[in-house]
Amino acid sequence: MGRYVEAKCRLCRRAGMKLFLKGNRCATEKCSFAKRPTPPGVHGARRNAKPTYYALQLREKQKVKRMYGMLERQFKRFFVIANRTKGATGRTLIQLLERRLDNVIFRSLFAVSRNQARQFVNHGLVFVDGKRVNIPSYIVKESQAIEVKATEKQKQIIKENIEASIKERSVPTWLKVEKDSLGVNVIRLPEKEDLIISVDEQLIVELYSK
Ligand code: SF4
Repeated sequence: MGRYVEAKCRLCRRAGMKLFLKGNRCATEKCSFAKRPTPPGVHGARRNAKPTYYALQLREKQKVKRMYGMLERQFKRFFVIANRTKGATGRTLIQLLERRLDNVIFRSLFAVSRNQARQFVNHGLVFVDGKRVNIPSYIVKESQAIEVKATEKQKQIIKENIEASIKERSVPTWLKVEKDSLGVNVIRLPEKEDLIISVDEQLIVELYSK
């Protein structure tokens, strides 16, 4: 599975907001966006032309795609599924993205970034309803029980992650987390208000519907 391996902080500067791609570093003064919030590139700071509507649509899509650490083909696949599903496409897309297993592990504070959460899933640490699932894009369902089964050393890392993450973000109300047993229950499906950053999903729907 392909993944983005270039400098991540550039993506935040391009999006014009923090996308929290580097774990705990994002909350410190080392954050590149906090130091230099201009678009990347030699002329980034000087570019101030009013963006076209297409540019706004494209940036919104790129922002969301990068926040979830997805490549274009994977992201488009999620849009196609959302488009085929009954109901508002934008809302369904947001729900599908939030319900990704790697995102659930990140939002439960077990990992400091979605990248780290993906590693936990890839390494077979995550179980859904008692069955090991090593697919980061697995979509969790309402009332499912997720559990992280780790060695003592891994558990220590996860506990440190929780302590570090809890200072900057909280567990969304659609998840119920048992910190001691490293378990998570999906209480309800997520909504737009549960996201970490603000997203105008309509711009993404319009972009892909051309
Ligand atoms: Fe973005 Fe700052 Fe984190 Fe870099 S450190 S990924 S700029 S939020």
